[in-house]
Amino acid sequence: MQAKIALLPGDGIGPEVIAEARKVLEAVASVKGHTFTFIEGLVGGIAIDKVGTALPEDTLALCRAADAVLFGAIGGPKWDDPTAKVRPEQGLLGLRKGLGLFANLRPVRPSPALKGASPIRPEVLAGTDLLVVRELTGGIYFGERGRLNGGSVAFDTMTYSVVEVERILRVAFELARKRRKKVTSVDKANVLECSRLWRETANRVAQEYPDVDFENLLVDACAMHLIRRPASFDVIVTGNMFGDILTDEASMLTGSLGMLPSASLAEGTFGLYEPIHGSAPDIAGKGIANPIGAVLSGAMLLRYSLGLEEEAQAIEAAVDQVLEEGYRTQDIAQEGTQVVGTAEMGDLIAERLTQG
Ligand code: NAD
Repeated sequence: MQAKIALLPGDGIGPEVIAEARKVLEAVASVKGHTFTFIEGLVGGIAIDKVGTALPEDTLALCRAADAVLFGAIGGPKWDDPTAKVRPEQGLLGLRKGLGLFANLRPVRPSPALKGASPIRPEVLAGTDLLVVRELTGGIYFGERGRLNGGSVAFDTMTYSVVEVERILRVAFELARKRRKKVTSVDKANVLECSRLWRETANRVAQEYPDVDFENLLVDACAMHLIRRPASFDVIVTGNMFGDILTDEASMLTGSLGMLPSASLAEGTFGLYEPIHGSAPDIAGKGIANPIGAVLSGAMLLRYSLGLEEEAQAIEAAVDQVLEEGYRTQDIAQEGTQVVGTAEMGDLIAERLTQG
């Protein structure tokens, strides 16, 4: 297969981890006979420095011309002023809006080799393999907001339409069909009108998928059960703000920020893929960042945008193998393991694929 992949490395450790993700994608392409063309664009702080805006028109255009986007990270102390008119995170928000990325997917599957790294007891964590699907372009983050009474009162508005809820629920059910066939829809229907609409719609969409187990859960109960019985979940689907909070909670189940990938999908097969971590300015330029989150984002890109499931699994297996063999970047090092740098970790994963 031929595919065009836009690379947006961004700031801090972004370029370091994206270089390794590219290396691994190239390795899988050479083994399986695919041709991936990579085109690089500017985004975030580096784009502000070079052209004065966090999301140049050229970057948006090259993403639109690609089959998928692999994104590093943006931001850093240099651009930290929250009152500045031009800020790095406008790059990511602009991409979500400009590319219609409405579904955010965050898988959480703690690597068996790393079970000691989780703050959760191994017997509670055993068997955890879940996917949080978060609605990304609606809800309270995009509603009307403002100040009243001369600034002493503030308000934010949450709005959801049936169309928006149906769309994200269908993504969740379709994904569940390819997994363990269970969907948990999370809301606050005992209090919020938006959540009542969400629940009615979820119940209706669920009837179209009789082969998938379905349950509704209140967000507070979900927060608790994620810690108490994480292995009982398969696909969790929820709105923008609840998803923001629950995805961070779920990511801590693995205990290693540098390991986790994510996807943001548009209608059809187009998507943007990125590790969940930020630009880690404290370790940028040292060659010690963990590239696995970026590498696994590359695997998600193959799975969801290019339909290359076998290749995606090959990358995931190569990552597991390297960890089983005892190689670690500094952030996940344990006693008796061998610490390697960013590029070496990328080399090891690529080698396991080509030796495969
Ligand atoms: P961060 O994720 O960058 O770092 C948090 C901690 O985790 C740091 O100690 C860092 O060294 C470590 N870490 C993160 N990724 C790692 C990796 N791959 N390997 C090893 N260690 C890793 O979060 P932060 O410190 O809150 O934010 C730093 C900057 O990143 C800020 O400017 C923030 O706005 C930005 N940020 C960007 C994104 C994004 O691009 N999507 C997401 C979160 C934060």
